[in-house]
Amino acid sequence: MENKRQFKRILLKISGEFFQNKGKNLYSESLEHIISEIKTVYGMGVVVGVVVGGANIIRGAKDSKIRGLPQDELDELGMQATLINGSILSTCLKEKGIPNSVLSAIPVSSSIGELYNKVRMENLLSQNHMLIFVGGTGNPYFTTDTASVLRALQMNADVLLKATKVDGVFDKDPLTFKDAHLYKEITYKEVIDKGLEIMDLTAFSMAWHHNLLIIVFNATVSGNIEKVVKGEEIGTIIEGGNNG
Ligand code: UDP
Repeated sequence: MENKRQFKRILLKISGEFFQNKGKNLYSESLEHIISEIKTVYGMGVVVGVVVGGANIIRGAKDSKIRGLPQDELDELGMQATLINGSILSTCLKEKGIPNSVLSAIPVSSSIGELYNKVRMENLLSQNHMLIFVGGTGNPYFTTDTASVLRALQMNADVLLKATKVDGVFDKDPLTFKDAHLYKEITYKEVIDKGLEIMDLTAFSMAWHHNLLIIVFNATVSGNIEKVVKGEEIGTIIEGGNNG
């Protein structure tokens, strides 16, 4: 499995942790960093779609266990949270001169974006707009990981790039274990067999079923998105097999 390919059409998944801002509203260093990285690859002519998470505000399943509240109701709030993050991203990108549009799986004010629709998506892409997908899948009990697989397939992306704050997929938590091993390449089956947590199983099995190439990489390191797009071996490549 060699990553000697260049990607022309990418779906980037940015989780809510990149929006966490320690009291500084509308600003986080990791978000500013990722925005400048996106600007570089957009400037290279790469077609970019971004799925935005919302776990910095609400994590439906986890918060429901902690608070004893119904998960489906918290999930609705979680989807709204992605709308807030996506709108912040959109505004910041516009400020940097990157034309972009917010496409939502849930109702959204027209001053922020519009409901997802495939024809509209293709129209916007042909106008060189970067796309920010919000609202997850539009349904409770799912996550934005599943939304990222869904949108990657719908926009026919070459690859799903999952941005993280560590270097890729490890055999154990690299923040806790100094001897954690980074996988450069791994198959979907190995991910399941080893019980590695890359994304939730619904999302992962959907990616496997459609043989969607996934690269998990450290988006806090300068130049990494550009390197991944140019085919440099950054992070962990997940592919192989087609029997999900
Ligand atoms: N969510 C949902 N359906 C979806 C996507 C998201 O109900 O299709 C809710 C769910 O509560 C989830 C929250 O939105 O916990 C935030 O999304 P996610 O946890 O995927 O965010 P991330 O971890 O990527 O920041």
